[in-house]
Amino acid sequence: MNIPKTSHPRILIIGGGFAGIALAKKLSKQEVQVVLLDKNNYHTFQPLLYQVSTGGLEPDSIAYPIRKILKNFPNFYFRLANVQSVDVDKNAVITDIGTLKFDYLVVATGSKTNYFGNIEIEKNSMAMKTIPQSLNLRSLILENFEDALLTSDLHERNALMNFVIVGGGPTGVELAGALAEIKKGILPKDYPDLDTRMAQIHIVQSADCILKGMSKQASEKAEEFLEKLGVNIWKNVRVTNYDGKTAVTNTDLTFETATLIWAAGVKGAAIHGLDAEQFMTRGHRMVVNEFSQVLGFKNIFAIGDIACMQSAQFPEGLPMMAQPAIQQGEQLGNNILRLLKNDVMRPFIYKDKGTMATIGRNKAVVDLKRFKFQGVFAWYVWMFVHLFFLIGFRNRMVVFVNWVYNYVRFDREARLIIRPFKKR
Ligand SMILES: Cc1cc2nc3c(=O)[nH]c(=O)nc-3n(C[C@H](O)[C@H](O)[C@H](O)COP(=O)(O)OP(=O)(O)OC[C@H]3O[C@@H](n4cnc5c(N)ncnc54)[C@H](O)[C@@H]3O)c2cc1C
Repeated sequence: MNIPKTSHPRILIIGGGFAGIALAKKLSKQEVQVVLLDKNNYHTFQPLLYQVSTGGLEPDSIAYPIRKILKNFPNFYFRLANVQSVDVDKNAVITDIGTLKFDYLVVATGSKTNYFGNIEIEKNSMAMKTIPQSLNLRSLILENFEDALLTSDLHERNALMNFVIVGGGPTGVELAGALAEIKKGILPKDYPDLDTRMAQIHIVQSADCILKGMSKQASEKAEEFLEKLGVNIWKNVRVTNYDGKTAVTNTDLTFETATLIWAAGVKGAAIHGLDAEQFMTRGHRMVVNEFSQVLGFKNIFAIGDIACMQSAQFPEGLPMMAQPAIQQGEQLGNNILRLLKNDVMRPFIYKDKGTMATIGRNKAVVDLKRFKFQGVFAWYVWMFVHLFFLIGFRNRMVVFVNWVYNYVRFDREARLIIRPFKKR
């Protein structure tokens, strides 16, 4: 991999997401060699993927080159590599560009879409976990309307304009809100010769409420906002199969749809060699102790979505969100430095800074530790927080200008089929 062997201990990080970047930033000015491997040369700001899928933002504005984030650090090395496995006996990782030894290994590979073993759903549905997937979804949504315009078969036309989102968490809710706004504000102008009132947006949620991880107040208000926007919410319903045309549920309900978006769950993106059953929990996450050490290892750590750090407050591990990932990355940086000085490591304590979701223009719900609020102010808070955590001044500016433009013009100009998506 053309990385020199120096007298500095080598800390090898797999994954340049929220956790990996936070850790690399902490370590890169220190007397250690930091090697970061990622299969993409950019960091993705996943919370805004739904805006790429719905033409609100260009993909470039929510991605940032990893090399640029960590430039000017002499002991930092980035390699574009897909890590295939870890050889724990040899302290080495095996990748598509070669093998590399480590002194300390940090797995920060995040998570991937969980289809709970349903291969047909996996094959036929759309996911929204990466930028290419979001672009596929954007293309498919727009292609559906182009096709709907051409067909004289009413049944087919309705299926093309019927969007089923499985999962009523923040991703499902935000996507449904954006689609509802497109239906109201953009489709009638873009397709005056198509009866776009027939377009339908459904959220299918297996639980008895949406935004299950948030307060009752937030969940109820989000439901009210969505219903006002014309979104159909089906609670206590589980999609059990989808063949590309019909979504079947565990009730009498079925949906004829050309687009089923699967936002019903994620699981840890485990690496071969560390994915044996003894390391993993139910959500396919790696069990770690309070110092982020993978069970059974002193020099192998896991942070972010892939890590399952259980506590009395979080028996199933910390929520798979950006804040725990960032905080774990920063804390592990400090702990590795302590370890190198033979100091005692400090246990990780999660500082819950709250959760939020937006439903659309002027509509968001925010749960902070002490305050819970919804509506316009919550929407401003949501925008501010997302701008603040975006990496890069240019990205912040571009997103801000886009939001202002979209707000004033009631528009989403990135509705482009750049790379046509063909369903398999
Ligand atoms: C659509 C969506 C919306 C979300 N909205 C919110 C939100 O509003 N608020 C919130 O707090 N959280 C949100 N999240 C969750 C949040 O994005 C994750 O919790 C967070 O990204 C986890 O950070 P991480 O560093 O663990 O993993 P990630 O950010 O996923 O990074 C993992 C990195 O590892 C790399 N990688 C994986 N496997 C390999 C491999 N084998 N070889 C090389 N590289 C590899 C990937 O390319 C990626 O860069 C959302 C997630 C999604 C998908």
